[in-house]
Amino acid sequence: MPLIVHQFACLSDNYGYLLHDPASGETAAIDTPDADAYLAAAQAQGWQITQIWNTHWHPDHAGGNEAIKAQTGALVVAPVGDAGRIAAIDRTVEAGDTVMLGDYSAMVIDVGGHTMGHNAYYLADGDLAFVGDSLFALGCGRMFEGTAPQFWASLQRLKALPPATLIYCAHEYTASNARFARFADPENAALADYVAEIEAKRARGEPTVPTTLGRELATNPFLRADDPAMEARWGHANGGNGDAVATFAALRAAKDSFR
Ligand code: ZN
Ligand code: FE
Repeated sequence: MPLIVHQFACLSDNYGYLLHDPASGETAAIDTPDADAYLAAAQAQGWQITQIWNTHWHPDHAGGNEAIKAQTGALVVAPVGDAGRIAAIDRTVEAGDTVMLGDYSAMVIDVGGHTMGHNAYYLADGDLAFVGDSLFALGCGRMFEGTAPQFWASLQRLKALPPATLIYCAHEYTASNARFARFADPENAALADYVAEIEAKRARGEPTVPTTLGRELATNPFLRADDPAMEARWGHANGGNGDAVATFAALRAAKDSFR
């Protein structure tokens, strides 16, 4: 039986995710932005949360760990690099580790940059990845703790996944990301089409997440930092040497101050 992802809005613009394996009955809470919302969502599905998989330490991702664990006894899995700032951990994981949900295995990918220890969880059998605040539809997370070379290396690890992979990001930031993407990459026809779809979805109140990696590869300016056109446009800003890291750094800095 295939995995089921239950997606729901919580806090102001987070997405909550429950990943359920019908065969084993196990359910993983992907991050814990809001314990009450997660417990209510699980109850409504008739599921018991048995695990928590944290992507990073920020309170809108790990703030509900203790409350959910107290209610459910869930096993808490968290990135080793952020572990000192996450409550109620049972197991720390790092790049290359595997986390099981029933017979399904999730591969841990190091996507540090937004925070030092940020992890993504990739399930090859489900063609899906939970990427937290590392990659967004048409954007990426703010570089709060890491460096541009580190963050670019993280994005390259995500870029290497199969293009059909469903990307479950943790926030609905797409409309605002789209405005910057159009500014950063104005001649990209695939991007223009995607932005039109996003605007229509948001006008109907629909989520733009999940996205697919393939679509992001063609349109997300941060994933396209190694594209020659993007390197030419952005790679020499701020004294950059024109390479992908310089291009990524310039894009990230420009997005931080974009209005
Ligand atoms: Zn965050
Ligand atoms: Fe967040």
